[in-house]
Amino acid sequence: MAEYEHLGEALGTDFFSVREQFTTEQWEKFIAVRKFVDEEVLPDIGSYWEKAELPWHLFRRLPELKIVGEDIDGYGAAGMSPMACGLVHMELHRGDGSLGTFLGVHAGLAMQSVAMCGSEEQKQRWLPAMSSLEKIGAFALTEPQHGSDSIALETTARRDGDYWILNGSKRWIGNGTIADLVVVWARDTDSGDVKGFVVETPAEGYAATVIPGKVSLRSVWQADIELTDVRVPDENRLENARSFKDCGKVLANTRGICAWMALGHATAGYDAAMRYAMARQQFGKPLASFQIVQQRLVHMLADLTSMQLYCMQLGRLADAGRLSPTVAGLAKMHNTRTARKILSESRDLLGGNGILLEHHVVRHWADIEAIHTFEGTETMQTLIVGRDITGIGAFA
Ligand SMILES: Cc1cc2nc3c(=O)[nH]c(=O)nc-3n(C[C@H](O)[C@H](O)[C@H](O)COP(=O)(O)OP(=O)(O)OC[C@H]3O[C@@H](n4cnc5c(N)ncnc54)[C@H](O)[C@@H]3O)c2cc1C
Repeated sequence: MAEYEHLGEALGTDFFSVREQFTTEQWEKFIAVRKFVDEEVLPDIGSYWEKAELPWHLFRRLPELKIVGEDIDGYGAAGMSPMACGLVHMELHRGDGSLGTFLGVHAGLAMQSVAMCGSEEQKQRWLPAMSSLEKIGAFALTEPQHGSDSIALETTARRDGDYWILNGSKRWIGNGTIADLVVVWARDTDSGDVKGFVVETPAEGYAATVIPGKVSLRSVWQADIELTDVRVPDENRLENARSFKDCGKVLANTRGICAWMALGHATAGYDAAMRYAMARQQFGKPLASFQIVQQRLVHMLADLTSMQLYCMQLGRLADAGRLSPTVAGLAKMHNTRTARKILSESRDLLGGNGILLEHHVVRHWADIEAIHTFEGTETMQTLIVGRDITGIGAFA
C-alpha cells in the first residue's frame, strides 16, 4: 500500500525540544542508529519476526555502528556516555525490540557483568571479542522456580580443587543457545553466597533449548538451560562477583535502559498512528480531521513527552553518576506502563491494518509485553519504590 509506505519510519517527534540539549556525541549516536533503523531494519524485520528467525545481518551491523559495549571504556567497547547509551537503545527499539534485546543481553548484561565484576585479566580475555561480536554473551540468573525472587536462586557451585561444579536449571536466558560466554549466577555450596561464573560453550553438561511459542520479541531467542556437573575453572569465576548484591549492581544498570527501550517502542507507535491518521481517509476526510482522533493523538503525545522527560533526567543523573536503582525502577515502571497504553491506542487507530505486521505497530504492541516483564516486573518495581518511600518492605 503506497500511501502507507513510510509507516514505521521516524517522524522526529520532539514536542518539548528535548533534543536541543544533546551533546555532539549523543546526537551522532542517535542519528546513526536512527538512519540504520529506518533504512536497514524496518524494510525486512517483520518477516524475521513472523518466522521467529534471528536477523544475523542486522546483529553484525552493531559493532560497525560502534554501539556494542555500552559505557565500558577500552577493550574495543563503545565507551558511550550513559545518555548516548540510552538514546541508542531507544532508537534500536523504535526499530525492533528483538534487535535491541539481543544487544541489551549481550552488552548490558553479559559484558557489563565482566566489566563490573571481572578481574583485569578477565576483562582483557573476554571483552575485546565481545565488543566485535566474535563472541556472544548471555546472562543466566532466572530459574524455573525463581523469577521475581531470583535472590532465592537454587543453582549450585561446588568447589573441586581448581574447578567449580555447576548444577541447576535456568529459564528465559536470552542468547542461551547461541552464546559463547554465559554468565551463570550460582550459589556456593560452602558459603551460601551467590557468585558469577563464565561458562564457555560448548561445555560438557551445558544444554540449552529455545523456548518455543513466544509471541513477543520473536526474533531473539530465550532458552531453558540445564547445567549438569558443568566444570568451570576457577579462573572463570568473576573475581568481584561475591554476593547477590554484585549481580544486583549489573541489573540496576540495565533497569534504566528498559525505560529508554519502552520510549523507543512508544515513539514507534505514536509516529505510526500520526502518519496513518493523516493518510487514511474515512467519511471523505483524513482520520486526523476528526476531533476524537485528534484528542487521542494529543493524549498519546502527552504520555510520550512524559516518557521523554523521564529518560532525559535519567540520562542526566546517570551521566553525573547519581542514578539510584530506585529512580531507575520508577522510570522503568512508568515508561513500560505508558508505552503499553500508547501502543494499544496506536494499534486501534490503524484499524484492521493495525494487526498486520507490514504496518509495524502490532510487533511493538507485542514486544512491549516482554519489556514490561523482564528485569523486574512493573509490580516489583512498584514494590521497590514503595519500600523506598515508606521505609516498609512489602515483598520479602
Ligand atoms: C523475553 C524475556 C527475556 C528474558 N531474558 C532474561 C535473561 O536474559 N536472563 C535472565 O536471567 N532472565 C531473563 N528473563 C527473566 C525475567 O527477568 C523474569 O521473567 C522476570 O523477572 C519475572 O519473573 P517470572 O517470569 O518468573 O514471573 P513471576 O516472578 O512468577 O511473577 C508473576 C507475576 O507475579 C507478580 N509478583 C511476583 N512477586 C510478587 C509479590 N511479592 N507481590 C505482588 N506481585 C508479585 C509479578 O509482578 C508478575 O506479575 C527474561 C524474561 C523474558 C520474558
